[in-house]
Amino acid sequence: MTSRIAIVGSGPSGFFAAEALLKSNLRLQVHMFDRLPTPFGLVRSGVAPDHASIKGVSRVFDRIAEDSAFEFCGNIEIGKDISLNELRRTYSAVVLAHGAAADSKLGIPGECLPQVFSAGQFVGWYNGHPDFSDLRPDFNTENAVIFGHGNVAIDIARMLLGDPQKFRKTDIAEHALDSLRGSKIKTVHLVGRRGPLQASFTTAELRELLLKMEDMRVEIDAAALHLSSSEADELSKPANAVAKRNIDLMREVADNSHQAAASKLLLISFFESPLEIRGSTKVEAVSLARNVIVNTPQGKRAIPTDERREISAGLVLTSIGFRGRALPGAPFDRLTGRIPNQNGRVQLGDGSTAPLYAVGWIKRGANGVIGTNRADAAETVACMLSDYTERKWLEPDLVNRGKHALPPKSTSFHDWQLINQAEISAGLAVERPRVKFTTIADMLDVLPQRQAR
Ligand SMILES: Cc1cc2nc3c(=O)[nH]c(=O)nc-3n(C[C@H](O)[C@H](O)[C@H](O)COP(=O)(O)OP(=O)(O)OC[C@H]3O[C@@H](n4cnc5c(N)ncnc54)[C@H](O)[C@@H]3O)c2cc1C
Repeated sequence: MTSRIAIVGSGPSGFFAAEALLKSNLRLQVHMFDRLPTPFGLVRSGVAPDHASIKGVSRVFDRIAEDSAFEFCGNIEIGKDISLNELRRTYSAVVLAHGAAADSKLGIPGECLPQVFSAGQFVGWYNGHPDFSDLRPDFNTENAVIFGHGNVAIDIARMLLGDPQKFRKTDIAEHALDSLRGSKIKTVHLVGRRGPLQASFTTAELRELLLKMEDMRVEIDAAALHLSSSEADELSKPANAVAKRNIDLMREVADNSHQAAASKLLLISFFESPLEIRGSTKVEAVSLARNVIVNTPQGKRAIPTDERREISAGLVLTSIGFRGRALPGAPFDRLTGRIPNQNGRVQLGDGSTAPLYAVGWIKRGANGVIGTNRADAAETVACMLSDYTERKWLEPDLVNRGKHALPPKSTSFHDWQLINQAEISAGLAVERPRVKFTTIADMLDVLPQRQAR
């Protein structure tokens, strides 16, 4: 008898889970749901447009989707179009792979002012995610501030300071390309609340930002790069090898003034926390407190001192991490923004409902690169297969009896291929790799069955 597995989310973790399941010796059908008509999660809507080679991982997912036991059910939001409880009554097992799309908040006054955007909103906007096509960031300002010292903050800095002409050769959304062409941004402040030892950049991304940008000068808070003897000891530990490479790189760049005539400036500062974002009708300035790092039982903490400074800025981006969203019917830990699980096992069924599993960012939190999700999915699938052996999946005849029809608005992988082709063709006409559709209506419009209605 064939077992049916539902996977909620078509990002890397969902696809790697599908791959591991389809490679098992079980007779399976895998149905992958996504709230968008397009698959691939953050590979399409998160990874920076100028990182085309990373987006190339979608070819691996294409091959997984070719398996005849695999079916993509796009444009279906679980929790809205179909409830999780319904899935748990009609599938043998359910895998939650819906990512961590909510942005962490600063929780300071002024965070809701116009022209203050979270990384999730801004990245979604330049990548053409339909949720953010109306964002309208205003680049008619010389100064922008980015809060956060991670790779997403680096991506955003590259987009703000890069040459828009070069973005033409990427799959950046057309609306973003148009806006960035008229950008007056000259200075970007990259502000972190802790020190260079704690920054979570990877060296390749940092190198790209510091050494490969044209017409851009870099200034780094040199005092922060002078480490105390205890910090230097910490830096020499093997666990801090990435931080050491980053600090060596930043020291090299801080001593280097070869781009003195550049028209754009990147300022990297450490040990500063935002206290308030000020402005009347839109953001005008941010007020910062100088921090000290103290050891607490929970680890190193940045504590604000009385030292203050203000930066004037017409655009503020917050890039301080992502959290999962609760899915009705699934347990959720509000503190961590994750689904509580043991190696991917969330809840066993009660005989009339399927067991529930988690993979990817919703399982372990918003960390790790695309490849991290493969090992993560393998761990969850190992639990699933062991539960199958112990007959903990919902029995297939129960599953088949309750089998429901998909809502008619559901899109297939073939539909996605038509959308993909239409985007590539639109790109050919303007010598770009693709022109993305940025609304669900426009995506559905290219599908023949919708046009016939
Ligand atoms: C801005 C950014 C840039 C990044 N750049 C890189 C990079 O350059 N290289 C790299 O290796 N990694 C990068 N990463 C990390 C990488 O994207 C993640 O490791 C990976 O996407 C996590 O996979 P996931 O499947 O858990 O989540 P996601 O990729 O977020 O996929 C979740 C999917 O679930 C869907 N979904 C959500 N809710 C529902 C619902 N209720 N019903 C149905 N579907 C739903 C979403 O539409 C989405 O398609 C980046 C991350 C971000 C945020």
